[in-house]
This record gives sequence, structure tokens and C-alpha cells, in this order.
Amino acid sequence: MHVLVLGAGQLARMMSLAGAPLNIEISAYDVTSGNIVHPLTQAVIGHGLDNAIEHADVITAEFEHIPHPILEVCEKSGKFLPSTQAIKAGGDRRLEKALLDNAGVRNAKYAVITTREDFTQAIEYVGMPMVLKSALGGYDGKGQWRLKESSQIDEIWQQMAQCIADSDNQAIVAEEFIPFQREVSLVGARGKDGAIAVYPLAENVHTNGVLSLSTAIADPALQEQAQQMFSAVAESLNYVGVLALEFFDLDGQLLVNEIAPRVHNSGHWTQQGAETCQFENHLRAVCGLPLGGTQLVRETAMVNILGEDTLPDAILSMPGCHIHWYGKEKRAGRKMGHINVCGGYSGELQRRLCALAAVLDAEAFPAIHEFAKKYAQ
Ligand code: AMP
Repeated sequence: MHVLVLGAGQLARMMSLAGAPLNIEISAYDVTSGNIVHPLTQAVIGHGLDNAIEHADVITAEFEHIPHPILEVCEKSGKFLPSTQAIKAGGDRRLEKALLDNAGVRNAKYAVITTREDFTQAIEYVGMPMVLKSALGGYDGKGQWRLKESSQIDEIWQQMAQCIADSDNQAIVAEEFIPFQREVSLVGARGKDGAIAVYPLAENVHTNGVLSLSTAIADPALQEQAQQMFSAVAESLNYVGVLALEFFDLDGQLLVNEIAPRVHNSGHWTQQGAETCQFENHLRAVCGLPLGGTQLVRETAMVNILGEDTLPDAILSMPGCHIHWYGKEKRAGRKMGHINVCGGYSGELQRRLCALAAVLDAEAFPAIHEFAKKYAQ
């Protein structure tokens, strides 16, 4: 099988690594350069999308901000999964909110803003404090504002008006502020036959809007809620592939924050912690193969490596620690790799995370240091 992935980043790279044992070969379309590249080496192996589409058995995507003309060409080939509709919903908060409402899935109260009058009405309808997010192009907390009091309205409007003017079809989604206790996510797969297999929930910690620590958790009541919402969204899209739902946990009630129609950073722990990792399950789903088991095989957490391109070698000799580099050039804040940390028995994972924190720089890895500090108390 040959799978063409739209996007040539770390998610295509990890699909390639997971696909090899099943004889699933991956090539990646670099949307910026227009080249077809090898997902591991980034070597150019072809030019132009049309040829690559012809040679692919299946086409899928590793990110949702894909220019629509590219999506349309892929959709026309009849080989594209999950679907143009799912990718567009993941990349446009207006479509995402409408999708959640139609699927009957709880999410924060919201209003769409394109004019100053809309903003005034949104403040009345949604109330303060509120979170304002650009409908297109914003991710990892970018393109967002927090409105806490009336004195901020003029200044925030100036910035939002600029954002709306700067790109076509842009708008702002105003959302009620959710005073959640924690953020969790559910990653799962739906096969071509409609079979659904979801992983255990992951609890996620963000640093400056970017995921920094993700830990698989066992919480049967939350898991049940999350699974129901996952099925509702996946079925309403007739989804095929891996899909991630991010939630706010508000007093034991989950609200969906956003969806990602692809393999997801909060599912990287599955590489060491689950029977079948998310990358393999995505490929199995889009290739029409049976899904692999999603059960936890050992307690696992994932630590993102942000903006760093070296780590102490000592980590390689620490039990349960597995480093995954993405082969990318160093840039401040960039996702450069991750470390999966596993523990075999109760409390072992936590102790291993503390041991790892002790060899990692506190400024570069604040979330794991915060965890170790709390654990020591
Ligand atoms: P997002 O890009 O939508 O994932 O937002 C980035 C981060 O902002 C989330 O991970 C939350 O920590 C926070 N956030 C987003 N929306 C809300 C909301 N409605 N209420 C409270 N916090 C939010």
C-alpha cells in the first residue's frame, strides 16, 4: 500500500515509521514547497501533486490548515480520507462549532463576530469573561484574546478588526470562559467498516498554549462520556482514520474544546503505552484494514521537547524513557521531539517522571518540573 500524506512534518514521519512493518509506504506532500518528500529524510522524491495522487492508493492529511484547492483535487481522486468536510471543520472554528452542535455534543456557548456590532451582541449573549479566537489559522493558543472587563473592549476590538481584515473569510469566535479543573483529550480511530476503537483519555498540561505534558489516565466515568461524544462526532462525519477530541473537565462534566481530524500530539504516548500506536491505527483505518487494540499496556506519559535539539545522553539509560526526535532545525518554542516515559507498577511512572525532571532544564521543561514539585509534596 502507498499512502500520500498532505503535510511533511513529524506526524507524517511517525506514520512512516509505524507503517513500515505493515508494508505501508508513506510519501509526504510538502504544502509549502509543492514537493513530494520522503517523510524521514525530507529528500525530494517527486514534484507536483497530480502525479503523486495518481501513484497513491490512499491520501490522508497530517494537519487541517490545508489550502482548499489542494483538498478539492484530493477529494476528486476518490482516495482522500477522512474527508474534506472533516479537515475543513478542524481548520475553521465556525464549522467546528456547527459540527459539534449538530452532533449534539456539549461545547462552550459561543457567537461568531465579523463586525463591531456582532462583538457588542456577543458580549451580551456570551458574557464576560470570554475567550475570543480567530476562526481560521489559529492554533496552539495563537490568534486569541481574553476579555475580562469592559475597559479592554476597544483595544481588543482594534486587534480583532485587524485580524479579520488581514485574511479572506476570517471571523472571530467568542466563547464563554470555562473555569475547568483540567484538560483531557480522547484519541480514537474509526475504520471503513464503522468499527470504533478509542484509547484511554490523556490528561494534558499546556505551557504558553502549547501541549507540554500528556499522561494516559484511567477514569471510567469520564472515559464513558468522552467515548459517547467521540462516537457522535465520528459518526456524524462518517469519519475514517484517527480523530482527536480535546475537552475541558468542568466538575466531572466534559465539554469539547476542539477537534483534530488527524493523529494528535496528545496521542504520542501510545507509541510505548498502547497495544497499537495511533499512527499505525490511522494507517490501518485509511487502508481499510482491521483496527489494532487500543488498550493500555503500561502507564505512560509524554513530555514534549520544545525549542531544544539536545538532551542529556543519560536519559537513554533511564528505565522507561524513550526519546523520539523529529529531525527538525532548532527554533524557539518549536516542537522538536518528545520523550515517552513508562512505568510498570503503581507509582513507578510518577517516580520516573521525577527522575527525568531532575536531568532536564527547568526553563525548557517547566511542566515536568511543576509535576515533580507537586509530587514531592
Ligand atoms: P485552543 O487553541 O482552543 O485549544 O485554546 C488554547 C488554550 O486556551 C486551551 O488549551 C485552554 O487552556 C484555553 N482555552 C481555550 N478556550 C477556552 C475557554 N472557552 N475557556 C477557558 N479556557 C480556554
